[in-house]
Amino acid sequence: MLVIQAQAMGMCFGVEDAISSAHSLKNPQDVTILGEIVHNRRVQQDLLDLGFASQGEQERAELPVSSGVLVTAHGISDAYRSRLQGKTIIDTTCPLVTRVHKMARRYHEQGYRLVLAGKKGHVEVLGITEDYPDTEVIQSLESVSANLGPKLAVLAQTTTPSDLFEAIFERVVELHPHSQVEKLDTVCKPTKQRQQAIGALLKRVQALVVVGGAHSNNTLRLCEQAEKLGLPNVRVEDPTELNSEWFRGLSVVGLSAGTSTPADAIAAVYRRLLEIGRLVRPQIARGFTNKVFTSRAHS
Ligand code: SF4
Repeated sequence: MLVIQAQAMGMCFGVEDAISSAHSLKNPQDVTILGEIVHNRRVQQDLLDLGFASQGEQERAELPVSSGVLVTAHGISDAYRSRLQGKTIIDTTCPLVTRVHKMARRYHEQGYRLVLAGKKGHVEVLGITEDYPDTEVIQSLESVSANLGPKLAVLAQTTTPSDLFEAIFERVVELHPHSQVEKLDTVCKPTKQRQQAIGALLKRVQALVVVGGAHSNNTLRLCEQAEKLGLPNVRVEDPTELNSEWFRGLSVVGLSAGTSTPADAIAAVYRRLLEIGRLVRPQIARGFTNKVFTSRAHS
């Protein structure tokens, strides 16, 4: 069995920098991480073991009690930042998220209504909507409304698939022939590289293994892309979750990973796939089913 790795996958520089900033802090016991620095259990546990406290993304209404607060790469709104007055803020906001905030502010000040292609309630999206409450957040093409306003700036959560962003922009233009509509393509470069890489990979493989956490949006999207093409797929966080039986009958398997997945986790899964490949020979294939893969992808 041949295992082909995606040309671009795994952790982006924004998340890597945030984790390395956290590890360089001298007083982790005085710091609360706001939300998940990365959707990866092991990385999060390592930080808790160092002494960091953690506050869930759903608990934003309450302020952390610690003197220090670490803002993750997803960033926060100015409104939320002002609530943290008096705390020491360790700000690891990704510069590509800061760029989105700056563009949002500029267009808002020019009288545009923001139309954001992204996931409602996602922490990065809250970083915009808490400052500009009339922002229209659009999750799907079907939910674009026809009366958004006369001046619209269409932008994207940084991890939105580019084709979805483009389609949403086109639909906004189509439904607002008399409005001034600006396109601000804020899908970040690492996301685009990973999307292009998975597209190329899926053309070459019979099934896909994705390494990443169950709460990682972009990890699940990789599985969805395989599913759309009818390819069996499975999401795992570590090699122990791989069952060699799933691979019987396959000769080419693809490997990709979400942006929250550390390089060593990907390497461990890759090594295990190579081992499985030696055990499971296509010529003795029998009984591989898509069902096993696809049902696990959503577990
Ligand atoms: S996904 Fe893009 S915007 Fe988000 S942290 Fe990574 S590089 Fe930055």
